[in-house]
Amino acid sequence: MKSSEYRQPHTASYYAATVNWQTDYPELEGNQSVDVCIVGAGFTGISTALTLAERGFSVAVVEANRVGWGASGRNGGQLIHGFTSDRKIAATLGESYEDMLNSMIWGGHEIILRWVEQYSIDCDLKSGFLEVATKDSHMAYFEDQCNRLERQGHPWEYRLLDKSETQKVMGTDAYAGSFLTMRNGHLHPLNLCIGEARAAQGLGVRIFEQSPVTGVQHGVRPRVRTANGYIEADSVVLAGNAYHTLEAEHFSGLIFPAGSYIIATEPLSDEIQREINPMDLAVCDSNEIVDYYRLSADGRMLFGGRCNYSGRDPRSIEASIRPRMLKIYPQLEDARIDFEWGGKVAIVLNRVPLIGRIDKNIYYAQGYSGHGINATHIMAEVVADAIAGTMERFDVFSDYTHFRIPGSQWFGNQMIALGMLYYRLKDALS
Ligand SMILES: Cc1cc2nc3c(=O)[nH]c(=O)nc-3n(C[C@H](O)[C@H](O)[C@H](O)COP(=O)(O)OP(=O)(O)OC[C@H]3O[C@@H](n4cnc5c(N)ncnc54)[C@H](O)[C@@H]3O)c2cc1C
Repeated sequence: MKSSEYRQPHTASYYAATVNWQTDYPELEGNQSVDVCIVGAGFTGISTALTLAERGFSVAVVEANRVGWGASGRNGGQLIHGFTSDRKIAATLGESYEDMLNSMIWGGHEIILRWVEQYSIDCDLKSGFLEVATKDSHMAYFEDQCNRLERQGHPWEYRLLDKSETQKVMGTDAYAGSFLTMRNGHLHPLNLCIGEARAAQGLGVRIFEQSPVTGVQHGVRPRVRTANGYIEADSVVLAGNAYHTLEAEHFSGLIFPAGSYIIATEPLSDEIQREINPMDLAVCDSNEIVDYYRLSADGRMLFGGRCNYSGRDPRSIEASIRPRMLKIYPQLEDARIDFEWGGKVAIVLNRVPLIGRIDKNIYYAQGYSGHGINATHIMAEVVADAIAGTMERFDVFSDYTHFRIPGSQWFGNQMIALGMLYYRLKDALS
């Protein structure tokens, strides 16, 4: 994270404008001692803190900006099962790990649903997600997913929709078909993150905002340092995802930030909402580089996509995203754009989340490759289990072989940009 990204308010998103509660936790000053100190207050950091606090650990969270300032408070709000490359992991590990992985694929949903109810978190949580096929050939993948859910005896509604049914549900003929899953859904991510932080605080977690961590001093009890103090702990969790620059030597060449961008229209009339999304679903297309969209609780179209791997934000997010929205919904031509914003996702080359530890007591969980609401919550539980001494699921991920691009401090993102050019071509040709 560049120092210009420290001590910032929330980005000017629709979410920041509709937040239920503004956080104002103190800056870290002086020295403290806890069982576990967590760096970063996004979903990874906050849900690790809440999970550990529920188990009786004393926990502190240190955030450079505000709770939910990073990707967690800016994302598309699409609650989608699985994590990137879960099928690749399943294929590598073989049948004996199938049950474990299957339960993890929906594990984040279970955690979120439980917390929303238990801690009364108001975050516009809704059920229903439609993955739409931009090409006929993509339907085979949906059929495969459908069969997989059938084999697992998945109890919630799911089904394939052909072109005409998809057109009825989405008010556009842009798609060849789709796959509906009602256990997936959508939510207001910043309100979820802040709600979880409040729940954690209620269980005694100490949260510090506007407190950039400048370094972690390794040792039997590592120290997490900021400009005005430190926290000593038995274990540290690095949860800065695409934004953190700590332990650069360890992570160099393994993980790369990329930009993703969203626009929000003015609230749409009830008639248009009924026309374009009568079931109020979250929608994501089947391309390698996805477009994703949904209606907000107050009826705006939130439309996102266009991952940018160059490290540079587009000059105008609206100019970059709006034409994509109008291609699918020309009826939104006159809708005013009220918000535009972007955030960073952390890409790992093989798309397997990067979970592990340094020196046995500095844990990390990151690299969800743009698919993180479910994954952050389940990986937080995996890390919390490891800290509490249960290593089974943690070891599966920490033992996974990741590729490292040598010398990437000089040209890493350019290589990712080249890789993405390959995916764009694949989208165009497949
Ligand atoms: C525009 C966009 C759309 C997305 N859409 C979706 C979606 O619809 N569905 C989905 O599942 N996923 C989506 N994602 C991905 C998802 O948001 C992320 O995977 C997830 O939020 C990552 O959470 P995190 O807690 O690991 O990281 P973050 O939320 O990025 O949090 C990291 C935090 O660490 C802090 N930090 C970093 N360095 C330091 C330091 N030195 N000291 C103190 N604090 C530090 C940062 O300030 C930040 O608050 C999207 C992401 C973006 C950007």
